[in-house]
Amino acid sequence: MTQARQDAALALIELFEVDALLLLGLVNIRYLSGFKGSDGALLILPQDRHLLCDSRYTLQASDEAELCTVAEYKSKSEGITLLLKKVGCKRVAFDAEKVTVSFLNILKTALPDVDFIPVADELDQLRAVKSLDEIKSISAAANLSSTAFNELLPLIKPGVSERSIALELEFIMKRSGAEEKAFDFIVASGYRGALPHARPTEKLLEAGEMVTIDFGARLDGYNSDETVTVSVGEPDKKLYDIYRIVKEAHDLAISAIRPGIECSSLDEIARSHINNCGYGDFFGHGLGHGVGLEVHEKPVISPRSRQRTQVGMVFTVEPGIYIPDFGGVRIEDLVQVTEEGCIILSKASKELNVC
Ligand code: ZN
Ligand code: ZN
Repeated sequence: MTQARQDAALALIELFEVDALLLLGLVNIRYLSGFKGSDGALLILPQDRHLLCDSRYTLQASDEAELCTVAEYKSKSEGITLLLKKVGCKRVAFDAEKVTVSFLNILKTALPDVDFIPVADELDQLRAVKSLDEIKSISAAANLSSTAFNELLPLIKPGVSERSIALELEFIMKRSGAEEKAFDFIVASGYRGALPHARPTEKLLEAGEMVTIDFGARLDGYNSDETVTVSVGEPDKKLYDIYRIVKEAHDLAISAIRPGIECSSLDEIARSHINNCGYGDFFGHGLGHGVGLEVHEKPVISPRSRQRTQVGMVFTVEPGIYIPDFGGVRIEDLVQVTEEGCIILSKASKELNVC
């Protein structure tokens, strides 16, 4: 755990006026300890840190969670109970989004004198600003993903199914070294393009349709996220106009990115352009989201967002227009906020590609 992350965790202990921070979400555990196993718990105290895991991970934890005292448990709840009794905590903050009600009840029954304080937003904010190493990993994932997409492009043609496009892209990515796909890819062609989160089906691409492909790779735990909409043959005028409007909204938002701008105003820049072009009713989702160890994390770029951009944030810009029974277009890039503005990490071209 780097000094900065350690300090941020300690600041939360002070903010919530608690004795300790109990983390059960794997991403937060990894972020704050270095441990990459698939199960465990992390207790952060002002003076020290304890990583709890089962026997499968004891060696790995000792290796990865350098700054933690590692202890093995037979049952997680029992391990946490014994540790909290031993260190004598009375008020413990925990990552509320990652703990089930039943698990919390077990802890509360075993430790009737301990107050458990749920926290979520403040914890998630810890990861919003990325370190240089993290940006390197995200950028490598984005590069791999975009390169795989460019390799896929010649295979996009009439008669090919959405599902085979998704499978082929996953295969190319993994062959190129991706640890995993970042999420289940979206491939939505023709009228199905109106569904922002369409799962690929056996539907075959037809000439004159647009296909929205939303994809990303994971490398060393870090994800990328990008969407390209391509045209299968020449698009009709309405589809072409929609593409142009979405691209303009995307470009306007990206050119406005700099440190200190309200996330909601970035959303507004793209949204008002789409509104002014008459398609305001057809852009239902927020403009973007942070990407890192999770595909959706802070900051949220939407009308309801209350935060400002900071150097080192990595998030998507993904306006779209979705018209029921007709089709849709989304264009998504992944950007890193810099002192001067931003750098686009996703590399596939966003000029309309006619396949
Ligand atoms: Zn996406
Ligand atoms: Zn996205």
